[in-house]
Amino acid sequence: MFLFDYTIILLIPAIILTVYAQAKISGAYGRYSKMRSSSGATGADVARALLNENGLYDVQVEQVAGNLTDHYDPRTHVVRLSSGVYNSTSIAALAVAAHETGHAVQHADSYVPLKLRSAFVPVASFGSQAGPILILLGIFLQPVSFLLNIGIYVFAFAVLFQIVTLPVEYNASNRALAFLGDSGIIKDAEEMTGAKKMLSAAALTYVAAALTAILTLLRFVLIAQGRDD
Ligand SMILES: [Zn+2]
Repeated sequence: MFLFDYTIILLIPAIILTVYAQAKISGAYGRYSKMRSSSGATGADVARALLNENGLYDVQVEQVAGNLTDHYDPRTHVVRLSSGVYNSTSIAALAVAAHETGHAVQHADSYVPLKLRSAFVPVASFGSQAGPILILLGIFLQPVSFLLNIGIYVFAFAVLFQIVTLPVEYNASNRALAFLGDSGIIKDAEEMTGAKKMLSAAALTYVAAALTAILTLLRFVLIAQGRDD
């Protein structure tokens, strides 16, 4: 991250995958945000229908400002969709709306990886901030190498969080695609391919983030070992 020793080459595959995933998602979004769904359903319609299908009448669907701000809030039981998704009938919008609603359905189902991920949130956000600081201090305060080791353990929780995010994201997308197909909201094969491409490109950005976290941790471990020798 901030160290320029030989271990920086470990990050090259992560950087390549991150750039590739970004290109994939902007390519898919560019194309499928212009493709209108033949059903005429909006993102908001899809979210409401998927919630009702699962008996989640108490979960609200709201509009939220900004771009890429779409999320499910488990504390207030609200699916929030950005205006561009809420009001749009594009294939991209339907895919995003169904995916975010998929998280609400996971929550209602007590889907284990989601519970695990939620439990990790506080410790992971601490770990991703404090970990690198402790590691840096450990490196510069030469005799205090235990700081370096503590930093590595703390940062490992942030890495674990990125890893447990993967099944949560893939599962939400699988639920989304099954619903879009089964409900008949997407009938056309080309539209279905578009929704799949949108969601798999989005999933790839999470894979890239997890790989970056894993390789960064590996760097820290190698740096710590180098100091012990
Ligand atoms: Zn998601």
